[in-house]
Amino acid sequence: FTYQPATDRYNRMQYKYCGKSGLQLPLISLGLWHNFGSVDDFTVATDMIKYAFDQGITHFDLANNYGPVPGSAETNFGRILKENFQGYRDEMIISSKAGHEMWAGPYGGNSSRKNLMASINQSLRRTGLEYFDIFYSHRYDGVTPVEETIQTLIDIVKQGKALYIGISKYPPEQARIAYEMMTKAGVPCLISQYRYSMFDRAVEAETLPLAAEYGSGFIAFSPLAQGLLTDKYLNGIPEGSRAARSSGFLQRSQVTPEKIEAARQLNEIARLRGQTLAEMALAWILKDERMTSVIVGASSVNQLADNLKALEHLDFTPDDLAEIEQILAR
Ligand code: NDP
Repeated sequence: FTYQPATDRYNRMQYKYCGKSGLQLPLISLGLWHNFGSVDDFTVATDMIKYAFDQGITHFDLANNYGPVPGSAETNFGRILKENFQGYRDEMIISSKAGHEMWAGPYGGNSSRKNLMASINQSLRRTGLEYFDIFYSHRYDGVTPVEETIQTLIDIVKQGKALYIGISKYPPEQARIAYEMMTKAGVPCLISQYRYSMFDRAVEAETLPLAAEYGSGFIAFSPLAQGLLTDKYLNGIPEGSRAARSSGFLQRSQVTPEKIEAARQLNEIARLRGQTLAEMALAWILKDERMTSVIVGASSVNQLADNLKALEHLDFTPDDLAEIEQILAR
């Protein structure tokens, strides 16, 4: 039988304007880096997208290389859309990216015009979409002039292949050049996507203020530090978890005793707040006014349901915040 989205879905989510743009994003977005590839369970993947949409998650984040195998997350997402979401394209914000290793040879994995133009065409074919809502330069590659990459993003918008553009993981110096150029071209940077969590706060120093200065929205990836900021590793590395899977990007060596001890202490604060650690870790990111959304990953509907509960308790007392700071400083 055909899927019918929950009619009250927009009451279940909170939305926020992305930087100085007219586009609103859900406070919680769903990323397809892991768990949507050809090695994963397609039924679970489908259920997660349906559940997300039912809960008001309108924003789905992809990249050319998500899988494994690279490209298969886009292919699977395209199939899920075709089988379940006919007629709902205008209620969705779908992003993709190019810039990391994707295909063989000198044109398959950098931030050149050649790579981006070829890659967006491939991504559109795999997903079956006519356009992406947001297209990102996935990274500054250290060689390609920023001007070449950013002019390509601007041209992608002019060609109608994306509505908005963004940058991901650009060092501040290159980010400033990008923001300036996009603004001058009349295609301002909609959004900046960086790793941000209680365990990785590098963007607080320069990157986040810089994005705000240029009116760009900000979206945090790996907000749960790939699962470390949940209760899942408190008693060892469970079978099937990202750290245990050969296709997972979280290495066993990253599950250190120090991280686990910090997670245990944070978990206690979360418990006193009546939340899970995952919920608190997401709320903690969203407390920053400049933050538009967090992109969570999930390997089950239950995890997604847990993460969405963060929205029920977003504020922090000064005492909570001070205690969290103390734990993170240890
Ligand atoms: P998270 O930090 O949210 O980690 C997600 C993982 O944490 C899940 O796969 C699951 O791991 C575990 N988890 C999630 N919720 C819970 C829960 N409630 N309880 C217990 N465990 C939970 O984010 P990701 O690292 O997946 O990144 C999110 C998205 O950000 C990506 O999908 C992608 O869209 C984007 N991204 C962008 C990058 C860029 O370069 N621009 C780089 C990386 C990510 P498990 O599988 O073990 O169950």
